[in-house]
Amino acid sequence: MSPARRAVVVFASTLLTSCGDDAVGVGEGTTSTGTTGTSDVESSSGSPPAETSSTAIADESSSSGAPVDVPLEYARGVRLTRLVANQGMQIDLTVDGVDVDPADYPVRFITGRRTLVRAFWSLHASFTPRELVGRLEVTYPDGTVRVDDRPAMVAGVSEDNGPSFQWLLEPDDVRPGMRLRAYALEPDPSIATGELSEPPPLLPYGGAIELPLVDSAFEMEVVLVPVLHQLDGCEQAPVPTEQDVLALAHDLEQNNALQHANVTVGEPMPYTAPIGGQDMGFSPILAALAIRRDQDSPPDNVYYYGLLDSCDGFPGGLLGQALGIPEALPELANQRVATGRWQGSGAAAAETFTHEVGHSQGRRHITCSGGEGGPELDYPHDNGRIGSWGFGIHDFELRPPTKARDYMTYCANAFVSDYGWEKTLDVIETLTGWGDADIAPPDARVLMGIVHDDGKAVWWTARGTVPAEDGASIDARVVWTIEGLEHTTAVRQDALPDAPRGERGIVITAALPEFATAATSVRLSLSDGREIAVDRAALR
Ligand SMILES: [Zn+2]
Repeated sequence: MSPARRAVVVFASTLLTSCGDDAVGVGEGTTSTGTTGTSDVESSSGSPPAETSSTAIADESSSSGAPVDVPLEYARGVRLTRLVANQGMQIDLTVDGVDVDPADYPVRFITGRRTLVRAFWSLHASFTPRELVGRLEVTYPDGTVRVDDRPAMVAGVSEDNGPSFQWLLEPDDVRPGMRLRAYALEPDPSIATGELSEPPPLLPYGGAIELPLVDSAFEMEVVLVPVLHQLDGCEQAPVPTEQDVLALAHDLEQNNALQHANVTVGEPMPYTAPIGGQDMGFSPILAALAIRRDQDSPPDNVYYYGLLDSCDGFPGGLLGQALGIPEALPELANQRVATGRWQGSGAAAAETFTHEVGHSQGRRHITCSGGEGGPELDYPHDNGRIGSWGFGIHDFELRPPTKARDYMTYCANAFVSDYGWEKTLDVIETLTGWGDADIAPPDARVLMGIVHDDGKAVWWTARGTVPAEDGASIDARVVWTIEGLEHTTAVRQDALPDAPRGERGIVITAALPEFATAATSVRLSLSDGREIAVDRAALR
């Protein structure tokens, strides 16, 4: 047993018992006393110990590292009813002793991610409450068997928000082709009471069950840009510590199918315009951040997020804002930009951060408070509920599906939903697959802008193209007057998420014609008939 593994054991068996008001600690009902152990053993026969004719099961775990053959018997007066696994969202593998059809799993799991496994029990009337050992056997395709024994105080009803046998698999243990089987064992057969159930307390009955895993790289790259606000003699910017950065990375990792979120802090960005004392929300800051991203020219998969600590307050009610809701296309890298209030720490900023980056991942709002604009219409759960038991791979808290709300709602108790998990899993896999390659055409540039309902707008240019397969608006166009001749270019319109006061701002992306800088007049002609002048200074 490595020291690292030992540390996890201690962590898992002590800190898991903490729980907040709106979450359930997964350690409830367990004790940290007794022997726990994990061992990787080579299976010579290929058949798991429980397949032998005897009810005795060899205990291959030990604290010294040397195998000690201490027989453990099946626990008496108890049966195992349900086996579940959780990487953030839960998959019920076996329910009432019956294996669930994998086609009915609510989400996909990935390799290399921390995974909680739980087994629930039902007790015979004659059962005497006592400590039992829960054993999880993990079998790998190369024949390796990992045995993990955990004591648990067994009494009363075992359910999702109550006691269970539980095991924590670390990322290195979550590998393709892995199969799971759980057992309830008697640490001291001399005090066992009751009859052995038939079948005995193990799951699944028919043999170990495979945990299907998507075996791919799942990572996110986020650059935090502290906005250095300079206004009327005031000058301030958030100064994130290592701990702050970790809090933000962990929140992304808990709420996304990720093996790793690589969150770094970029150079502060000086910003001299009012933030609170103006009426365009965070649009001017998003424009500045988009220009900054364009100047840095990072790979297309990199997200930019501005951290705000304003000298003059904030637009009322506005916590954060994202520049559009781009699809997973390299040409739209110029929209992977968002911003939000710092609120003093990474932990305090995390919820807004995950929401706004969620827009940059292509997620729309989910209805809960009713204030969420432009919501997803096919969300399958009422009031933004998350649909499955949530589990924080870093805070070890369980979130009941009835209490937590999708992080794309405006409601409290934000967490990922099965719907959101699935939606972003593909986006993350696609963007990770790009690696550090620059896929978008290196020289093509577009005109970008944010236009508010009242016609106020901000404009800039960035690397990118208007995606060919995108339904660029037919009616909207940009009209350029160059050397006396009018040229028109196609326009892509995106909704501006989290626009203040319920207005519907739009994000404009338009192709640049040749000699665009020589234009004497540029105007946006919208499908609703509005004509908006484009600031030609933005073209230089
Ligand atoms: Zn939003």
